Amino acid sequence: KEGTKNIRKEMEKWLTPETLAVVKKAGELATKKNVKAYMIGGIVRDLLLNRPNEDIDVVIEGDAISFAIDFAKQIDGTVHQHESFRTATVETKEGISIDFTTSRTEYYEKPAALPTVLYSNIKEDLSRRDFTLNAIAASILPDTFGDVLDYFHGVEDIENKRLQVLHNLSFIEDPTRILRGIRFEARYSFRMSQETEALIENSLSSIASLSKERIQSELKIVFQETDPIWSMNRLNELGVLPYFLPHSAWNERTRATLQYYLEKERVTDAEDDFFYIICSLYVHDDKRLSQLKNILLTKKHRRVVQELMTLYKNSTSFHVKSAGAFHDMCHSYVDITLIMAVIAFMTGDKEQQRIGSLLRQYHIKRKNLQRFVTGEDLKKAGIPPGPLYKHIFFELEKAIIDEKVYDQSSAFHYIHEHLLQNSK
Ligand code: ATP
Repeated sequence: KEGTKNIRKEMEKWLTPETLAVVKKAGELATKKNVKAYMIGGIVRDLLLNRPNEDIDVVIEGDAISFAIDFAKQIDGTVHQHESFRTATVETKEGISIDFTTSRTEYYEKPAALPTVLYSNIKEDLSRRDFTLNAIAASILPDTFGDVLDYFHGVEDIENKRLQVLHNLSFIEDPTRILRGIRFEARYSFRMSQETEALIENSLSSIASLSKERIQSELKIVFQETDPIWSMNRLNELGVLPYFLPHSAWNERTRATLQYYLEKERVTDAEDDFFYIICSLYVHDDKRLSQLKNILLTKKHRRVVQELMTLYKNSTSFHVKSAGAFHDMCHSYVDITLIMAVIAFMTGDKEQQRIGSLLRQYHIKRKNLQRFVTGEDLKKAGIPPGPLYKHIFFELEKAIIDEKVYDQSSAFHYIHEHLLQNSK
């Protein structure tokens, strides 16, 4: 198979001359040391797809660590070792860095466990990878520079925009590959082959045994990189949504909720963004919401879920008349709860939309709450200090939110009219 295709031209086109020169030097040293060296993985894939990528991964058929140490010495660069994974990063004085890895096989002690690393040759190294498009290597030795090693027909799959796993047990070994696959489909407009799609069906029980941490971190990457609605559709279509997000609902309402969030409220904080996206699949129903607690979220987000459950239950059972009326229930709620609840209500029926817009008003007003009266002011007005002050301040806040109070004199008017009656 060796020598069927050569990507020297693509390397010259897409790598900076400086990077190309460093890669060539590494190849020369490999020849001198009589070991084979290949560029591998994402960089080769992107060169074949005619896309820029400067993350250079080189696999050495031999000890990558000692190779990297010698190479750094030769080019007067620095080296960082990552002993447990048998990899090392060499950085040139100009800041170009290359990762060197010992070719390896990862075997899995049980499905969905983290792999154990063993030494092996390049073919075995390629055979442990996720998809054929990532299982292509290109030689960097001077004699064979750019020659492609393609044991799994990755080049053909790239030409056909086809995403395929290398073997039938791939998703069982590592179900997070399903999520990686969705990302690659979205990123390159590729499509999984029918066989690959069918293999996902066999891996459902392995998804269920993935740790919450792994599911959460992989899903986060998916939602960051792709259009979440597209990916949610895809997860649903592949039949894996209930496995990655147990008890979630993907229907007209949840889709609208997610869309509303993405178009109108999207935040930049990655943790919160992830929470909103996930939450839109659970938020319309108390029972579902309570399931959300089983998905690993931050402490803050678990609190939000609790608050949402209370808010959602109560605001449908009583007829809220004004924005200020929310203050009794929500004064201690975090902003995220209010935003998520607004999003959920806004995609509901007329009554829920009414509640949603009052809640939104409440949230905006609460954020910019201007207090017109201090304890000092109350004292001066002859109101004796005591627990009553707390009550007055709180009721004033409600009145300010409802625009019944807008300056100090209207505040005192309100205090005398409404708040001192009982104590007289
Ligand atoms: P990106 O462009 O998103 O950085 P990448 O594929 O270049 O993608 P990594 O996600 O770091 O970068 O993966 C590097 C290589 O390791 C991949 O090309 C792939 O061959 C392999 N790989 C990564 N994750 C897995 C996995 N879960 N199973 C098998 N191989 C994997």
